[in-house]
Amino acid sequence: MTDTKTVVIIGGVAGGASAAARLRRLSESMEIIVLERSGYVSFANCGLPYHLSATIADRGDLLLQTPESLRERFRLDVRVRNEVTAINRNERTLVVRDLATGVDYELHYDALVLSPGAAPIVPPIPGAERGLVLRDIEDLDRMVSEVRKAQSVVVVGGGFIGLEAAENLKEAGLDVTLVELGDQLLAPLDPEMAKPLERELRRHGVAVELGHSVAEIEVGTATLDDGRVIAADLVVFAIGVRPDGRLAADAGLRLGPTGGIAVDDEQRTEDPAIWAVGDAVEKIDMLDGNATLTPLANIANRQGRRAADSIAGIPRKVLASQGTAIVKVFGKSAAATGWNEKRLLAAGRDFLAIHTHPNDHAAYYPGAQTFAIKLLVDPADGAILGAQAVGAEGVDKRIDVIATAMRAGLTATDLIDLELAYAPPFGSAKDPINQLGYIAENRLSGLSDSADWSEIEQLQKDGWKLLDVRTQEEFVEGSIPGALNAPLDEIRAEIEDLRGYDYLVYCAVGQRAHVATQLLNAHGVKAKNLDGGWTTWRNTPAAQTASRAARDALVGATSS
Ligand code: FAD
Repeated sequence: MTDTKTVVIIGGVAGGASAAARLRRLSESMEIIVLERSGYVSFANCGLPYHLSATIADRGDLLLQTPESLRERFRLDVRVRNEVTAINRNERTLVVRDLATGVDYELHYDALVLSPGAAPIVPPIPGAERGLVLRDIEDLDRMVSEVRKAQSVVVVGGGFIGLEAAENLKEAGLDVTLVELGDQLLAPLDPEMAKPLERELRRHGVAVELGHSVAEIEVGTATLDDGRVIAADLVVFAIGVRPDGRLAADAGLRLGPTGGIAVDDEQRTEDPAIWAVGDAVEKIDMLDGNATLTPLANIANRQGRRAADSIAGIPRKVLASQGTAIVKVFGKSAAATGWNEKRLLAAGRDFLAIHTHPNDHAAYYPGAQTFAIKLLVDPADGAILGAQAVGAEGVDKRIDVIATAMRAGLTATDLIDLELAYAPPFGSAKDPINQLGYIAENRLSGLSDSADWSEIEQLQKDGWKLLDVRTQEEFVEGSIPGALNAPLDEIRAEIEDLRGYDYLVYCAVGQRAHVATQLLNAHGVKAKNLDGGWTTWRNTPAAQTASRAARDALVGATSS
C-alpha cells in the first residue's frame, strides 16, 4: 500500500537530514518537508573549527548538501530560513515563520520529527553579548570575520569544542588563552589522562588558565575571576550546550530530568505522531540505564535513521548511549568511552583501574611512540566500565575496539582473545588491547596485586615503602618523593636487605615493576605494583602538588 502521509522534520542537519534521507529511501510516496531556521542544511558542524585555521580551507566543503541537491536526489521539500514557532498537537499543525519575508504560515503534518539540536550556553556575565559561539555556518562566518581583525582571543571552556577552537585559532595566528573553570581540561577524561593535552597546548603557545572563569568582557579585554585582565579582541564561549526543548515543552511534550525531550526506544515522544532525535533528546546511559545527555553526531545520525524506520512502520530499537568521543589537539588525540573514574567514584561503584603506556606500533619499526590508555573494570564480573586514551598515534583505534567490546558485552579478559590486524607499522603482535586483557586477567585472578596512584599516601602512612625498580639514571631524572631505588636486575641480590617492609613497587610504566613484584612475593616479601608507574604518576594532581612543594622548598632555601 502506498503511504501518502506528510512527514515534517524540524532541523535539517545531523539528525533531521538523516531522518529525511532514510525516509525517502524507505518510501517514494511520502511527502517529506524539512524546515530549517538557519540558511543551510546538512552542513558539517563537526568541521566548523577547522575552517578557522583554513585546515578546511574551502568553506564550501562544509556544506555537504544544499536544498537543491536534496530535492534532486531525495525529492525532499527543504525550506531554509523557515522557523517553526509553535506546534498545535490537536490539529497536527505547525506555525512556521518564513524568515525571509517575516510571514507566518500553517503547515499540516501526519508525522513530525523534532531535531532542533542544542544551544550553546552563554554565561550571564557583564559584556557576554560581545562573546561568540560556534554552532552553525552563520556563527562561523561571524567568527571568521572577527578573526581577520583580531590578534588575541580568549576561549572560555576546555571541553571538546573549546579545545578545537583553541587549536585552530592558534593555528590561525592568534594569541590564545584557554580559560577553564575546572582543575583539568576535557572533563570526560580523568585528570592524569587529560594532563598531556594541557602540556600539548602550552607547548604550542596556548596559555591555559585552569580553575578560573571569565568575569567580565570589555572591548579588547576579558577579566578573569581573580581580577587579571587578559587581551581579548575576541571571546569564544564553549562552556557546553543545552538541549533545545523549548518547542516541545511549549507543546506540552514531556522533558526528562536532564532537560532533554523524553522519548521511547523508537525515538517517539509521548505523542504518537511526534518523534524527537539528536542533541535535543534525553538518552539512556548504557551502564546504569539512567537518563543522560550525550550531544554527539553519531548518536544524532543513528537516532534520525531509527525515527524514520519507526515512521515507516519498521520499528527498531535505538540502543543506549556510551558517550564514545575523540578530539585532536595539535599533535595529540584523546578519546574516551563509557564512564571515567571520577564518575564511578561519585556513584560509589567498585572498580579496578588499569593504566598502560604501550607503543602505538612495534617499537623496532620507525616512528613508534608511546600513548597512554586506561581501562576501568568491574572487579565482580570483569565487565568493561570505560576507557580513555591519549597520545600521538593509535588512540582512535584502541578506543573504538574497546567501545565495540563494551557494546558486544565482552569482559576485560575477553580482550586477550581479540585477533587484531597486525604488521609492524600498525601495531604489535601483542596489541595494547590484548595487553590490557592480560593485566586484567592477572589482577582479577589475584595473581598480581596493584595499587592506584591515589592510594600512595595512605599506603605510606600504613608503613609501605615506595620502591623504584628503574635504573639509577632514570631514578635521578625524577622519582616519586620518598622512593628507594633498587633496579630490577639487582633485586634478587638485595632480597635480604629488603626484608622487613612491604613495598609499593613502580617502574616507568608497570612492566618491570610487575616482574619485581612477582619476584618479591615469591621470596616472601609483600609487594604491590603501582598501576601505570612513574609515567602515570607524573600526570596526576599528586605529582603537581609534589613539584609545587619541591619548588617552594627550593625558593625557601635560596631566600633564607
Ligand atoms: P543540529 O545538527 O545542531 O541541528 C539542529 C538544527 O535545527 C539547527 O541547524 C537549527 O538551526 C535547527 N532548528 C532549531 N530549532 C528550529 C526551529 N524551531 N525551526 C527550524 N529549525 C530549527 N559531535 C561529534 O560526535 N564529534 C565531533 O567532532 C563534533 N564536533 C562538533 C563541533 C562543533 C563546533 C559543534 C557545534 C558540534 C560538534 N559535534 C560533534 C556535535 C554534533 O554536531 C551534534 O551532536 C549534532 O549535530 C546534533 O545533531 P542534531 O540534529 O540534534 O542538531
